[in-house]
Amino acid sequence: MGLRAYQILTCVSFFVLFPVIHCWGNDGHVAVCRIAQSRLREAAADAVKQLLPESADNDLGSVCTWADHVKFHYHWSSALHFIDTPDNLCTYQYNRDCKDEDGVKGRCVAGAINNYTTQLLSYNSASSSHSEYNLTEALLFLSHFIGDIHQPLHVGFTSDRGGNTIDVHWYTRKQVLHHVWDNNIIETAEERFYNSNIDGLVDAIQQNITTDWADLVKKWETCSANNTACPDVYASEGIKAACDWAYKGVSEGSVLEGAAGQLILMLASLEI
Ligand SMILES: [Zn+2]
Repeated sequence: MGLRAYQILTCVSFFVLFPVIHCWGNDGHVAVCRIAQSRLREAAADAVKQLLPESADNDLGSVCTWADHVKFHYHWSSALHFIDTPDNLCTYQYNRDCKDEDGVKGRCVAGAINNYTTQLLSYNSASSSHSEYNLTEALLFLSHFIGDIHQPLHVGFTSDRGGNTIDVHWYTRKQVLHHVWDNNIIETAEERFYNSNIDGLVDAIQQNITTDWADLVKKWETCSANNTACPDVYASEGIKAACDWAYKGVSEGSVLEGAAGQLILMLASLEI
């Protein structure tokens, strides 16, 4: 069994054995991927089905956190999960901000979304069976990074590493701010509103897409009119949301609570 197959299997086994474990790493990504897969047109749905590993049983959500698990083997990929922007500016610019710690351009989550989208567009070309790319990995990376870029603090300030160095309390629990947004908000929403059940959260978002947010769907679809993907739009929205919500009024030691309902609704709308 190849290393990749082993990693996927480990990842899948983990969820099978411990299905009640809640973390954004799981549930946020799973929700994004399940909703995305349910909205694919037929040709795209067929391609995803072909590309998914057999162990995923045609469930994109089941392998949506694969990219987090392989960070430790594919060290080069860790810079692809986020973007550091200048402190307190609350703006994002691809040419200025999309780079890794060594300054290599394009190595950020927006660059990765462009790259893996381009790779996946080769799926239908005549040479796809001999593609120079591993399109299964491209699919798993792309679907994960689309989730990451919509978590506001994945496009955060450089000096606090997207809230990773800011200690806060989520109610009584000590956490870093980044983790609150990765994990606790969704976990609390599931506990309070959806019986600790991710299906309830996914259903509620699907419901909103067909009703309250129906007008927005057209906007989401047309942002790619001239581009293969729209990561710069998402990243700009992300750092703005980080400033308006995640960083706002928060300092070392802040206690975060109470407004969870609002935060959750806002986050849910961002995650589509
Ligand atoms: Zn990630």
